[in-house]
Amino acid sequence: MLRTHTCGQLRSEYVGQEVTLVGWIDAVRDHGGLKFVDLRDRYGRVQVQISPDSIAGDALATLRFDQVLKVTGEVQSRPDGMRNPKLETGDVELIAGSTEIIGECPPLPFSPDSGDQVNDELRFKYRFIDMRRDEVQRRFRLRSDMQFAMRQYLHREQFLDLETPMLTKSTPEGARDFLVPSRLNPGEFYALPQSPQIFKQIFMISGFDRYMQVVRCFRDEDLRADRQPEFTQLDLEMACVDEGDIIGLIEGLMEHVVKEVLGKEISGPFPRLSYEEALLSFGSDSPDMRSDLRIQECSDLAEGLGFKVFSGAVEAGGCVRGLKVPGGGQWSRKEIESLEPIVTQQGAGGLAWFKMTEDGPAGPVSRFLEGEAGATLISRLEMETGDLACFIADPQTRVVVNSLGQLRKELAQRLGHIDADELKFCWVEEFPLFDEDEETGRPTPCHHPFTCPHPEDLENLESRPLEVRARAYDLVLNGFEVGGGSIRIHQRDLQERVFAAIGISPEEAESKFSFLLEALKYGAPPHGGIALGIDRLAMLLAGLDTIREVIAFPKTQRGTCQLTDAPDPVTTDQLTEVGLQAAPREDPEEKSG
Ligand code: ASP
Repeated sequence: MLRTHTCGQLRSEYVGQEVTLVGWIDAVRDHGGLKFVDLRDRYGRVQVQISPDSIAGDALATLRFDQVLKVTGEVQSRPDGMRNPKLETGDVELIAGSTEIIGECPPLPFSPDSGDQVNDELRFKYRFIDMRRDEVQRRFRLRSDMQFAMRQYLHREQFLDLETPMLTKSTPEGARDFLVPSRLNPGEFYALPQSPQIFKQIFMISGFDRYMQVVRCFRDEDLRADRQPEFTQLDLEMACVDEGDIIGLIEGLMEHVVKEVLGKEISGPFPRLSYEEALLSFGSDSPDMRSDLRIQECSDLAEGLGFKVFSGAVEAGGCVRGLKVPGGGQWSRKEIESLEPIVTQQGAGGLAWFKMTEDGPAGPVSRFLEGEAGATLISRLEMETGDLACFIADPQTRVVVNSLGQLRKELAQRLGHIDADELKFCWVEEFPLFDEDEETGRPTPCHHPFTCPHPEDLENLESRPLEVRARAYDLVLNGFEVGGGSIRIHQRDLQERVFAAIGISPEEAESKFSFLLEALKYGAPPHGGIALGIDRLAMLLAGLDTIREVIAFPKTQRGTCQLTDAPDPVTTDQLTEVGLQAAPREDPEEKSG
């Protein structure tokens, strides 16, 4: 090794020893003829005294930030009054005997001290500098610790870490595939895996029983702020299990990970909500459980209240739901009305509300509360003096759900319910098996087509597919979906029925999934699994709000890499070799951003 010790290692017990350090210059201070340099590496910082006779020529004058130095010298105690209690190495300093600049560094394109303030384009272009910052190093250490803790826990639970191919066939997870042309089979393509779903099921059929993998997945989607075209999952699968077994395992895993990574105790069981209940009570299928605000169904009272806006919405097939805001009765009309854009953005016509004052209900809805339905409404919302009640009525239930979901989020913030240090998990279960495809009107899997339908709903699979529930579950943390999985179909005939329900003909099923259908024929045990989003989890455990910050080399919204400038055009020869021709590019300049 070039060095004998690291910059964060030196303490009083090393006094008198000769050591060699290599690190980046973090600061240079002039003291007469001497220079005091803070030398930094991954492990910490230490002060080095460099005199003109310990460095060749006039190099002393050229020392500057982020040059790489190699220093050999003796560790000394710092004189009394000169110790730095804020630095772990602050009791000692290194007196340089010989110093060498082994990595030059011109002035940096941005100052790392300004950190997250620097514009992203610059930061990710010079990611190697950005990643030298303590804060960024901490994030990646956390991510590494998290993955280690996951592997450690699953290894103890008898999981095998097994790999699956990257050059493969399409796996339907609802996104477009990234395709890779095959040189040896001109005109044919591999797909990069959207997930190892089918392979992990095949592992179960092979008897491996418990599989895990930290695996890269690829989905060619239009990118949103918290999505990346390639991302990492902790993927796992178990044989002979039901929902409760997977849920119990993951709760244990998360307890272990949070303890190892953050030193915090969390304990299961996490609340389990059905999809229906999540939408009704929280207005979201990934509710933030840090707030206990709950939405209440009020449709049954609409007629009795005699408020046309409410009853009209219900008669038109929609609903009315309300949310109590504890203490919101103190807010001014202007403050209450400032909530309106949140719900109108979701398509609601407006916000109906009343407050409870010492003299009873006040505000727009109050005049409908005099009868029995009004009394029931007040008691259902558990309204007390000083509280505010907000309502959304709409002929489309979806509008009510989304409006109240967004409103709940905003109110939870305003009421100070959102503690950034708190980690609140929950499970959402019994998702619908299918959604209606907007273009074709056909049922399309909400999750993927290998998810087992709820046994109670099997008879509706062909007749009323949109009413069939799935044996699927999502893990939610602080309002973010951090994982999803399901119990799988392990009977070939049921798998064929599901393919048929989503319009996959037997021929298509045969061409796309014959290997799975074959495998299901030859002794498939019941099985199920889940995949957790490593990037999202790392982001949340690090207290950040974008996954880009926990991915070393992320892509932009346009799918480009700011460091390498990928993707790139290739030569005609390269294309010919794989049997392709490129269509002319319309605007070769338009790539960055
Ligand atoms: N393959 C699924 C996904 O990537 C996870 C699972 O069902 O285990 O979302």
